[in-house]
Amino acid sequence: VRTIVGVDLGATNVRAAVVDEAGTAAAPIRRAVPRGEPPAAVADAVAALAREAASGREIAAVGVGLAGWLDPTRQVVRVGPNLGFRDVPFGPLLADRLPGSTVVLVNDLRSIAWGEYLYGSGQGACVLLVVFFGSGVGSSVVANGRPLEGSTNIACEIGHVRVVPRGGRACGCGQLGCLEAYVGGHNLERRARHDIEVGAKTVLTDLVGGRLDAITCATIEAAVALDDRYASSLWSEAAAHGGQVLGSLVTYLNPDRLIVGGGVWAGCAALRERALKRLRRSATPSALEACRIVEPALSDLAGILGAAAFAREALGST
Ligand SMILES: [Zn+2]
Repeated sequence: VRTIVGVDLGATNVRAAVVDEAGTAAAPIRRAVPRGEPPAAVADAVAALAREAASGREIAAVGVGLAGWLDPTRQVVRVGPNLGFRDVPFGPLLADRLPGSTVVLVNDLRSIAWGEYLYGSGQGACVLLVVFFGSGVGSSVVANGRPLEGSTNIACEIGHVRVVPRGGRACGCGQLGCLEAYVGGHNLERRARHDIEVGAKTVLTDLVGGRLDAITCATIEAAVALDDRYASSLWSEAAAHGGQVLGSLVTYLNPDRLIVGGGVWAGCAALRERALKRLRRSATPSALEACRIVEPALSDLAGILGAAAFAREALGST
């Protein structure tokens, strides 16, 4: 039996687990991602964690899911926003630290979608669309049993679809008016803090006892439940953009299954309901009728399972 390790390399934590062929994973172990250190230090941490997860067994392959634009041929992270990577040969750095192991880097949302497709609520779908609203906004498509990669491996970057053509809000990617600038949790929280600093009157200030740093999307959701006008307008705008794009994607792709998830989506019922309403209004009825909208089934294990499955596949083809 070959030991395959799936790794989820996020902004703050890296998690790893051994995954078997049936998609059964041991409980993931985790450690903090080294902050402000060079890529080699991050590779050290990931390799050490993978070895720890394998607990002495020889690792045949490691699949690592991480946010960003990856070059699959050279295993280079072209742009890794969470880690501050630009053109970092992270695959080779990891492979140097795990001699004899095959290393595969995969976009995080593609790993999640692949995990849900193989083992979760995407099973059996013909066209599966996965969209996650968390601190950022990401998506992936599995069509006819394969993930959609795009010509240069950056397909489905839904967070950076422009939803406000002129005078839009600034996005972390450097563009203006991206979906993520309006629905990404990180941007929503930053925006609320800034608006309060320049005079917005909202119950949010009281909810965090004046400590604006403590405002999260959960706080905004709580303020909406208290009928706060400011928070409610923020949610209406976010839901309008999010729901509109979801509806357009349903019309465009004609998926039979749509998985919507992510921390902001799961934690903010009022936002979710408004976005779903907008989705149903904006998608073309024939496409909407064909599409079952479901929740993710594997919670935060999906990325690890998907990354491990990609690693197993790479091993099979070598
Ligand atoms: Zn953007």
